[in-house]
Amino acid sequence: MTKRCSTAAIVGYLVLAAFVPAAWTQARELYQQTQYKGQEIGKLTGDVYYARMDDYVSAFMVTSEGIILVEPIGTEMAAWLKTELARRFKVPVKYVIYSHSHWDHASGGSVYADTARFIGQENLLKNIAMPPAGTALPQNVRAQDTNGNGRIEREEAQGNIRAQFDLYDANKDGVLTGAEVTRGPIANVRAPDVTYTDRMNVYLGGKRVEIISRPIPHADDNTLVRFVDGTNVLFASDWITVRRLPFGQIGEAETPMVKAVEAMDFEFFICSHGALGKKADVTANIHYREELRAAVAKAIAAGQTVEQAQKSVLMEAYKDWDFYEQQRPQNVAGMYRSLTAK
Ligand SMILES: [Zn+2]
Repeated sequence: MTKRCSTAAIVGYLVLAAFVPAAWTQARELYQQTQYKGQEIGKLTGDVYYARMDDYVSAFMVTSEGIILVEPIGTEMAAWLKTELARRFKVPVKYVIYSHSHWDHASGGSVYADTARFIGQENLLKNIAMPPAGTALPQNVRAQDTNGNGRIEREEAQGNIRAQFDLYDANKDGVLTGAEVTRGPIANVRAPDVTYTDRMNVYLGGKRVEIISRPIPHADDNTLVRFVDGTNVLFASDWITVRRLPFGQIGEAETPMVKAVEAMDFEFFICSHGALGKKADVTANIHYREELRAAVAKAIAAGQTVEQAQKSVLMEAYKDWDFYEQQRPQNVAGMYRSLTAK
């Protein structure tokens, strides 16, 4: 038994080595860290499972003809998961569906390229394309360009740019242009083989998975995945958080979009981060947004500035949610701007 496991692991590493050059691997430590730790696979319902790497969660359906997987997450997760799936289910991954193009969700797909086809919303192609050669360095990176040549040499790079330099450096010349920095650390994001515009179905082993476009402020290539056929699992990446404050400067325009998701037919809900959820968690996310809107509107009516509103709108009923301290002021500011923009 021990012997068989170690052989499988060695084969897994050899397969990975063939697809992912060592310089391109991305350290797990670069990913968002929270109280959720470890790699695991768990059953949700029927033939649908979740797979976790620390805070990141993907979902997959097992059929007699293969596996349909949502987001590879990264090289380390993909290598581990591929070996685990082969060992447990003895069928290959046939489809990898991208939820959106961000590096921390879409990297690592090449690990599955020997058996899988890759599906993404059509905007994903634009988002992973190299911007025009003359693209300037983004404003927030210019301070790193200490020699002022309009590019970031390896020795100049700091912070995330330094940590992910090889993932930004698309042509591997050791220098980052404005175009490469703007494009992002996506060297490990494999382009989709199949793109769709509004909606598509994947059929495999007599089962169906619905793939639905839902452009949001966070990502214009955002995709929802609904595992159908008696399983009732919905996957939505990043924006509908489970017992966690939404990220950043959310505005009121997003609330009806979350409501439209709530109206869909599902029982289990998987955000790409943190806790596993149910439909009630999507409802709770809507309540948070509505209560935030009401509280910020009240602060505006009382003549408060955005800074004052950030101090007065405490949303105390949500103190136990993840990222309460970090995200509440941003959520308030976003809602304030969204309500005063009219
Ligand atoms: Zn994202």
